[in-house]
Amino acid sequence: MAYVCLHCGKKIEQLEHNFIRCRFCGYRVLAKERSSLARELSTD
Ligand SMILES: [Zn+2]
Repeated sequence: MAYVCLHCGKKIEQLEHNFIRCRFCGYRVLAKERSSLARELSTD
């Protein structure tokens, strides 16, 4: 499960020690990445 930083918008592929924090800007609010891309790929 990847996360997206709500501050800088960067994608965090893996959390460090399960600590919710953006490694780029240090912001501590992340959102779970939606699976919209997978849904688009599955549509025919
Ligand atoms: Zn960030």
